[in-house]
Amino acid sequence: MENKKKQTVYIAYGSNMGNWEEVKEKVFLLIENSVGSIIQKSKTYQTPAWGKTDQPDFKNGIIKINTELSPQSCLLALQNIENQLGRIRTEKWGPRIIDLDIIDFDGLVFSTHELILPHPYAHKRQFVLEPLADIAPNLMLPNCSKSVSKILNSFEDKVVLKILE
Ligand code: ATP
Ligand code: CA
Ligand code: CA
Repeated sequence: MENKKKQTVYIAYGSNMGNWEEVKEKVFLLIENSVGSIIQKSKTYQTPAWGKTDQPDFKNGIIKINTELSPQSCLLALQNIENQLGRIRTEKWGPRIIDLDIIDFDGLVFSTHELILPHPYAHKRQFVLEPLADIAPNLMLPNCSKSVSKILNSFEDKVVLKILE
């Protein structure tokens, strides 16, 4: 049975394949239909690929949603959306039409084989922190002693990201 309390969830999106305008429209619609209502959207940033750098730049951003789903159901719903949009899993950190990661699920700290909360790399990725700071600069990610904007301000290797919209 699902927990009926509305939870606040921050989801990171990333894409470096396909027509971004079309992908974006579909992703937001599918999230509204199957995950929860979108409360806020960050700007979208063009960012160099992370981890595996020989691939096109990514479009990255964050949305804040309210959901009644459990964390596991939320992950499954996001993976369904990735699949519906035609994501094919090949190499780790390789190019993808859409990647949807749960960054923070209502402050929950949780770790299973399938799901780690908060997302383990969130505080190490400028392409997560910068859009997150657009909509939640004062958010304290669980296990972090500093707010999102403070982590971003003291971030090493910071680059200037192009803002797309
Ligand atoms: P990264 O997680 O480093 O950003 P990735 O997004 O490229 O890498 P994927 O291939 O999309 O990795 O996902 C690998 C697995 O990560 C998923 O099958 C999922 O079970 C797991 N996972 C663990 N924690 C999370 C989370 N917070 N959000 C989304 N997926 C997660
Ligand atoms: Ca990811
Ligand atoms: Ca992912």
